[in-house]
Amino acid sequence: MGKVTGFLEFERLEEGYEAPQARLKTWKEFVITLAEDKAKIQGARCMDCGTPFCNSGCPVNNIIPDFNDLVFNGDWRNAIDVLHQTNNFPEFTGRVCPAPCEAACTLNVNDDAVGIKSIEHAIIDRAWAEDWVKPQPAAAKTGKKVAVVGSGPAGLAAAQQLARAGHAVTVFEKNSRIGGLLRYGIPDFKMEKTHIDRRIEQMQAEGVVFRTGVLVGAMPADSKVTNDAKDTISPEQLKAEFDAVVLTGGSETSRDLPVPGRDLDGVHFAMEFLPQQNKVNAGDKLKKQLRADGKHVIVIGGGDTGSDCVGTSNRHGAASVTQFELMPRPPEEEDRPMTWPYWPYKLRTSSSHEEGCDREFAISTKELIGSKGKVTALKTVQVQFQAGKFVEVPGTEKEWKADLVLLAMGFTAPVATVLDAFGVDKDNRGNAKASTEGAKSYKTNVDKVFAAGDMRRGQSLVVWAIREGRQAARAVDEFLMGSSNLPR
Ligand SMILES: Cc1cc2nc3c(=O)[nH]c(=O)nc-3n(C[C@H](O)[C@H](O)[C@H](O)COP(=O)(O)OP(=O)(O)OC[C@H]3O[C@@H](n4cnc5c(N)ncnc54)[C@H](O)[C@@H]3O)c2cc1C
Ligand code: SF4
Repeated sequence: MGKVTGFLEFERLEEGYEAPQARLKTWKEFVITLAEDKAKIQGARCMDCGTPFCNSGCPVNNIIPDFNDLVFNGDWRNAIDVLHQTNNFPEFTGRVCPAPCEAACTLNVNDDAVGIKSIEHAIIDRAWAEDWVKPQPAAAKTGKKVAVVGSGPAGLAAAQQLARAGHAVTVFEKNSRIGGLLRYGIPDFKMEKTHIDRRIEQMQAEGVVFRTGVLVGAMPADSKVTNDAKDTISPEQLKAEFDAVVLTGGSETSRDLPVPGRDLDGVHFAMEFLPQQNKVNAGDKLKKQLRADGKHVIVIGGGDTGSDCVGTSNRHGAASVTQFELMPRPPEEEDRPMTWPYWPYKLRTSSSHEEGCDREFAISTKELIGSKGKVTALKTVQVQFQAGKFVEVPGTEKEWKADLVLLAMGFTAPVATVLDAFGVDKDNRGNAKASTEGAKSYKTNVDKVFAAGDMRRGQSLVVWAIREGRQAARAVDEFLMGSSNLPR
């Protein structure tokens, strides 16, 4: 334990942000990592609880009290080893995780949680700066070959674990760069892509082969999902060449808005808008980029994806940005005794909201209005949740000026044609059907085919994808070798 009275003496410290005016001019990250002395004080606040709720609140079960103590004692070298025991990519989660560990922290019952995420961020940044993050190639090869389909955090975590267990791993990715939604979804201002590039180098040194621009299976012709593939491989080819296949293709089907006017120009899925900016930032020359400059932008959907559309639109120089959310406005503060140690229901204001955005709650879009085929306005109505459904509030109809409407209402399922090509059974939400428990964990109905991440669990978080990738790797290792030393 850091300092016995630390939690009484010291306040929670938030990481600093550059001022909105400065950060809106760039695509760079703007979170200022805690300095060493400040991280030490956060570490001192940890009570090393007998039952560390932070540890079970964290989907990868990070050993949080131990690294808090190591940081307090200035032992950063061991702190990164403890962190890497449970998390392959703390630089991703240290930047974009919503930190369910902090919601679960015992201090959060009647005080402010330990700044666990900021400590994680400081540990991994220090580790990279000190050159402590090295490839860990397997001591012996097994002679077994594994294909991983999809290079998001689930696929990367699975691939790294399997390579370290001695298997020959090839990652197939339909897009031109590795990283899944970390690369083409999450904006650079939340996470710069050099963090992925460094991990790719590490994994290549561990023996992982990456094949980009290769679609495994099939995509519907009219799909609006990002797809740069120039080559296609059939599931049969893959199964013939490899001893096991792990499907980590994400949940890429965007939820649509079936209202009159949906076909108008200027109405797009968030995932048509965001990846283009990621590509431009990476130096790609696009024929035409969907941009928000000078436009009145309405973002429909109040989650992470919507928030990323807000931040991107403001960086383009939108005339105005308004975000609609169907649910009512949550309370500013959670009811802690009611919710702890679970994820609390409260208003979440992201850094993108702080940069400029009007937020409307309990609002539903009835119609998109256009002129000459182009969207010009939205017609909305306020709604109330009654007896299990949303009902319109009479007399609350309103029109909103709009030149660009971004649909960010989440994702319904993986692309069905990919799963169908493999003959993989789906659950009732359209995800790849595979349990996470028992002898058949992460195994689909198809021989030697496994599934993990958003493709199995549905739209989720980076940290859950890493957990599933790690656990699926162990399941594959057991399947191939009869037993496994990989952690579960
Ligand atoms: C805009 C946006 C912002 C988000 N922000 C956050 C955040 O701040 N924090 C957070 O924790 N989570 C966030 N999420 C969610 C998070 O990104 C996902 O839960 C996570 O990336 C899922 O990881 P995955 O590996 O399962 O799938 P993905 O990251 O979706 O990766 C799947 C990959 O598989 C590839 N693929 C699919 N099918 C095939 C095929 N047939 N052949 C070859 N390749 C294929 C895809 O091209 C893709 O690269 C966000 C999501 C979005 C859309
Ligand atoms: S729950 Fe909070 S105080 Fe307790 S061990 Fe975890 S981080 Fe420390």
